Amino acid sequence: MEHLVSIGVRDTAVRRELCAWICSQRGGFDIRAAIDALESAGMSKPSIYRNIAFLEDQGLLRTTVTEDGTRLRFPVKPEHSHQIICDRCGNVEEFSTCGWPLIGELLALQTGFKPTSHHMEVHGVCADCQKNKR
Ligand SMILES: [Zn+2]
Ligand SMILES: [Zn+2]
Repeated sequence: MEHLVSIGVRDTAVRRELCAWICSQRGGFDIRAAIDALESAGMSKPSIYRNIAFLEDQGLLRTTVTEDGTRLRFPVKPEHSHQIICDRCGNVEEFSTCGWPLIGELLALQTGFKPTSHHMEVHGVCADCQKNKR
């Protein structure tokens, strides 16, 4: 639990700002864009990095790499989320179809596990990127 201790009270405001900024993004974000935006809002680079790492540790941020090698992070709900991710521009859309809880029951039968959560991540090329073929 060291990470919870190392993030002190003073980081709460940073984390709130960071979360607000992340939620205002269209989809996946480049960490450099986060730093540019938040540094100019008066936050220090180490605390931005630390808070992004914290959100990742909590399973609230995931990473995808686009076709041009850009690493993008995007927010997920901790217990149940489905996202379709564009591999060109990093656009992330939420969708609701997954066949859960049927799949959960099937898995329980097959594996003996009691499934409690899942994340579904689908990759593809978004409608905009299909129109603007490079
Ligand atoms: Zn796209
Ligand atoms: Zn689901």
